[in-house]
Amino acid sequence: MVVYFDGKYVDSNDAKVSVFDHGLLYGDGIFEGIRIYGGNVFRLDEHLERLELSARAIMLTIPQSRAELAEAVCETCRRNQLQDGYIRLVVTRGVGDLGLAPWSCAHPTTFIIASKISLYPQEYYDNGLSIVTVPTRRIAPDALPPTVKSLNYLNNILAKIEAKQAGALEAIMLNQQGYVAECTADNIFVISKGEIITPASTAGALKGITRGTIFDVAKAIGVTIREANLTRYDVWCADECFLTGTGAEVIPVVKLDGRVIGTGKPGPITAQVLVGFRQRVLVEGTRI
Ligand code: PMP
Repeated sequence: MVVYFDGKYVDSNDAKVSVFDHGLLYGDGIFEGIRIYGGNVFRLDEHLERLELSARAIMLTIPQSRAELAEAVCETCRRNQLQDGYIRLVVTRGVGDLGLAPWSCAHPTTFIIASKISLYPQEYYDNGLSIVTVPTRRIAPDALPPTVKSLNYLNNILAKIEAKQAGALEAIMLNQQGYVAECTADNIFVISKGEIITPASTAGALKGITRGTIFDVAKAIGVTIREANLTRYDVWCADECFLTGTGAEVIPVVKLDGRVIGTGKPGPITAQVLVGFRQRVLVEGTRI
């Protein structure tokens, strides 16, 4: 496999990050998870824009321009002959000394991995997921804004472990006020009385690229979509529920905390949204 590493294309065996890289030592860095469908990189410009905003928020200067990164993403796919898969673009603070001060890092480390994707097993797309609410709260916006797609995923990882211990594959994380923020790697949507509702980013949700696509799909199919605070009750008592993410795409949820949502089967609006989403990923995107 070929990996882009600081301006060069190298064999994955030679793509090595230093033990002094602050991305590793402190989680000091940002990243994007991107999909390529049929040779089209989905919403690449939006991903690069979000990366730039994450960089601005953590006061990191990305060495490459947006055009250079776009080309590097495409070239990494081309060199791996990847038409369908998952791309991981990471920019760390770089190699520094053992102190956490970022100014010991001379320059950021940038790398891009283009690989195959492992999805949830198909049965969950057909029958829906059963998820739980976990005790670990989403990190507070005044600590580290959850809108920054940083390398600090420990918060989400703890939630994922708690989900597994409760026998579930995904978990709802609440914010400090007790409202639903998002899942460990996905945004969440409910459907109530024909409307699609999702937490705002101010409630602790990442501004997901898939989430944004769902807003476009909903408008195109004529279903109202809006942001609102959601409680666990709102999810328990919704007619339908689904999660979205670059990896998961659109996956129905049929149970939360042991309560059956709606009919207990993936609902009709979720199915419509999924069809709309699948159509878009094939036509929207940057040809490699
Ligand atoms: N929330 C979190 C915490 C995530 O890690 C992700 C995956 N990147 C998402 C939401 C979904 O965002 P996207 O649709 O951009 O993949």
